[in-house]
Amino acid sequence: MKYQPVIGLEIHVELKTKSKMFCSCQNDSLEKHPNVNICPICLAHPGTLPVINKEAVRKVIKAGLALNCTISKLAKFDRKSYFYPDIPKGYQISQYDMPFCEKGFLKVGDRKIEITRIHLEEDTGRLVHLRGENYSLVDFNRAGVPLMELVTEPQINSAVEAREFAQKLQLIVRYINISDANMEAGQMRVEANISLSKTDSDTKNPKLGTKVEIKNLNSFKVVEKAIDYEIKRQAEVLDNGKEVVQETRGWNELKENTFSQRKKEKAHDYRYFPEPDLPPLSFTDEQIATIKKELPELPEARKERFIKEYRLDEKTAYFFVQNKGLGDYFEKVISELSTDTSGADIKKLTNIATNYILTDLQGMLKGANLMKKDFLITPENFAELIILVGTKKILSNVAKTVLLEMFQTGADPSHVIDEKGLSEMKDEDEILGIIKEILLKNEKAVSDFKEGKQNALQFLLGQVMAKTKGRVNPNEARKMIEKEINS
Ligand code: ADP
Ligand code: MG
Ligand code: ZN
Repeated sequence: MKYQPVIGLEIHVELKTKSKMFCSCQNDSLEKHPNVNICPICLAHPGTLPVINKEAVRKVIKAGLALNCTISKLAKFDRKSYFYPDIPKGYQISQYDMPFCEKGFLKVGDRKIEITRIHLEEDTGRLVHLRGENYSLVDFNRAGVPLMELVTEPQINSAVEAREFAQKLQLIVRYINISDANMEAGQMRVEANISLSKTDSDTKNPKLGTKVEIKNLNSFKVVEKAIDYEIKRQAEVLDNGKEVVQETRGWNELKENTFSQRKKEKAHDYRYFPEPDLPPLSFTDEQIATIKKELPELPEARKERFIKEYRLDEKTAYFFVQNKGLGDYFEKVISELSTDTSGADIKKLTNIATNYILTDLQGMLKGANLMKKDFLITPENFAELIILVGTKKILSNVAKTVLLEMFQTGADPSHVIDEKGLSEMKDEDEILGIIKEILLKNEKAVSDFKEGKQNALQFLLGQVMAKTKGRVNPNEARKMIEKEINS
C-alpha cells in the first residue's frame, strides 16, 4: 500500500441518568411513544432556563478518569449554533474550548491511541421520515438527553484498530456504568474521520491528507466495513491523480458503500460562544479524587489480574472480561474450589472449571442472562461438581448430564447423581456382563470388527455407554470389549 490510512474517531455516548441534561424530564432512550418525555425547557420555549444535571457531569468525569484524561479544574458550556428541525433551540449546548476532560489515551493492542478530549453536550431530537410521505415527524424525547462526546487524535491506522477502539470504549463505559452503550439502540454512535497520507513522506510527521467524515456508523461491523471501503475509495481517487474532497459521507447498508452527504461546515460557522445561561464549573482535587475512588476495576486491569491470579491464557482472560457476568461467576467458583479439602490440585480444578464454564455452561445459557433469578446453579454446587470430576468420582460424560440437570432444577450434584443412579460402575463383573449382552445382540458388528472395521468397535462402545448411562470409563470399556471379542 502506497498510502498510510489515518483515522480519528468521534464517538457519542448517551449517558444513563434519571433526568435529562438541563431539565427534569425522564431520560429514557428506549421510550417508544413520541413526545412524552418533554417539557418547556427541552422544547426551548422562550424564557425557560437550563439547570445542569450534576450526575451527568459526574459521569463524564468518571469516563475521563477511566480513560487516563486530565480533568479540567475549570470547565464551561458553550452554544453551538446551527439550524436543524430536531434541535428546538436553534443551537446546541455543548463545550468548545474548556471541556471537562482532555489528553487521555486508550490502549488498543500495544498501541496507545490518544484521546483529545471528552466533553458533555445535549442530544438532539429525532426526525422520523415516513416512506412515501412528503413530510417528516419529529420526536423530542431524545432532545436534551446528556450526551458525552469523545474525540481521538488522528492516530488510528486501520479499520480493525478503529473497531477495536470502539469496542474497548464500549466495555469501559459499561464497566463504569455510565451508559448501556448499545449501538443498535443509538446509545453509542461512531463517526470516523479518514484520510490517506503518502507513506514515502516523513514517517514521523507525515503530512495529513484531506479527511472525509463518515457519520452514524451504527454497529461495530459497519464501523469496520465503512472505513475499509473509504480507504479503498480514497486510494483509487489518489491513484487516478485526483484529489480527495473534504466532505461528510454516509454509509449505505444495502450497497455497502459510502455516499456524499454534504461539504463540511467550518468550525467558525457554528459561532460558538460561552453559554450565558449557565455558570462555568470548577472542581477541587478532593471532588475529583472522590469520583476516582468510585471507579471499579477496569477491563484491562481485570484481564491482567485474571492472567496472574488464575494463570489463564490471554484469550480466556479476555473472554471473562468481556463476559463480566461469567467472569464474576468463575471467580466465585474458584473461591469455592480453593476451600476444597479433597487434596485435588487447584490448578487442575481451575482448568476443569474454566472448560466447563466456557463450553457447557455457556452453551446452556445461549445468551440468556446469568444475572437473572432463573439461573439456578450456585457457585457452591458448580464447584462441587468440578471437584467430583477432578477427583474422578464421576466421569466427564456423566458430569455433562448432571450439569444439565443442575441447570434445570438447581439441585446439587451429589443429589442428582444419587437420584439418577449415575455414580461410576466399578464392579468389573457387572460391566463385563453388560458387554457380553451387547455383543450377543450385535453379531454383525462383532464380525465387522473382526474383519478390521474400527467403526464397529465405536458402535459397540456407544451401545455399552448408552446401556450404562455413561457410568463406565469409555477407555476401559473399549479395552474390555476388544478383549472379549478376541478371547
Ligand atoms: P473538525 O473541525 O473538522 O471537526 P477536528 O480537527 O476537530 O476537525 O477533528 C475531528 C476528528 O477528525 C478528530 O477525531 C481528528 O482526530 C480527526 N482528524 C483530523 N484531521 C484528520 C485527518 N487529516 N485524517 C483523519 N482524521 C483526522
Ligand atoms: Mg467534528
Ligand atoms: Zn424537559
